Amino acid sequence: MKTCTKCGAKPVIIHRKASGQMLCKECFIESTTDKVLKSIRKNKLIEKGDKVAVALSGGKDSVMLLDILNSLYKRNIIDIVAITIDEGIEGYRKHGVEIAARNAKKLGVDHKIVPIKDYFGKNLDEIMLDDAREHGACTYCGVFRRWIINKIAREEGATKIATGHNLDDETQAILMNYLEGNIDNLTRIGMKSEPKSDKFTVKIKPLREIPEKEIGLYVVARELDVHFDECPYSKESFRGEVGRFIKELSVDHPTIMYSTLRGFDKIKPVLKKEFSGKKVDMGQCIRCGEPSSHELCRACLFYKKINNEE
Ligand SMILES: [Zn+2]
Ligand SMILES: [Zn+2]
Repeated sequence: MKTCTKCGAKPVIIHRKASGQMLCKECFIESTTDKVLKSIRKNKLIEKGDKVAVALSGGKDSVMLLDILNSLYKRNIIDIVAITIDEGIEGYRKHGVEIAARNAKKLGVDHKIVPIKDYFGKNLDEIMLDDAREHGACTYCGVFRRWIINKIAREEGATKIATGHNLDDETQAILMNYLEGNIDNLTRIGMKSEPKSDKFTVKIKPLREIPEKEIGLYVVARELDVHFDECPYSKESFRGEVGRFIKELSVDHPTIMYSTLRGFDKIKPVLKKEFSGKKVDMGQCIRCGEPSSHELCRACLFYKKINNEE
């Protein structure tokens, strides 16, 4: 029987093919937590005194993120507010919102639950009822969620917004944008955002170097309360197709996600220098007052369309 390469104990719960490490449950939890905390320090994602708004969906990524950031909260290094957006997706969202609430309560962190409908008049299912919608569900959802998170985080006095994006998400985003030739989007992918307006809070992705599989294993090993349901709208996306492709390649090439990420991070400064071209003036949206480079921000444009306010 295999033994842990760190402590010699049995049983081994993971064989990290990319590094050759074999780890027992305790060493896996410890090494994963250390990796995230080290990356937070090294990249100065969070500093003492920060108030971190955690985008908490109740899924494995955000619950793991909250669990690790909680170690900084307990030591009084940071303050946390958890924000859960209720998109209003039948048979999917309610479960996630309940789990998010249980996790926040267990840790004693402040928790805001915000329905999309409160701000945009309709929930996602109602928006998608109309076949004539010009965008897919993920586009409306993404735009509305970003708008809400940014607004609530600012109102709560948060200095950082942390999201649970993992290694798979990041490599998908990199590859997708390469394939679509979307250089402008590429220059914006990273561990930490550089906001164009001081009304935007800095966004950070502390789990960016952790593969999705290890996040699943972490929440099971820590016995965390999460939901594994997949969003019913997620199958529609190009992102999903690219994700399946990278996963397939990873079976025979276990380091491919890491090398995609590392390679991208190396060329990103050059890309930015060469292509971050048009400096847009960030004004204010005339309807909601949020930062926008046009008269109406994208969220308000969508709001008007879905509520037939032309
Ligand atoms: Zn061990
Ligand atoms: Zn607006």
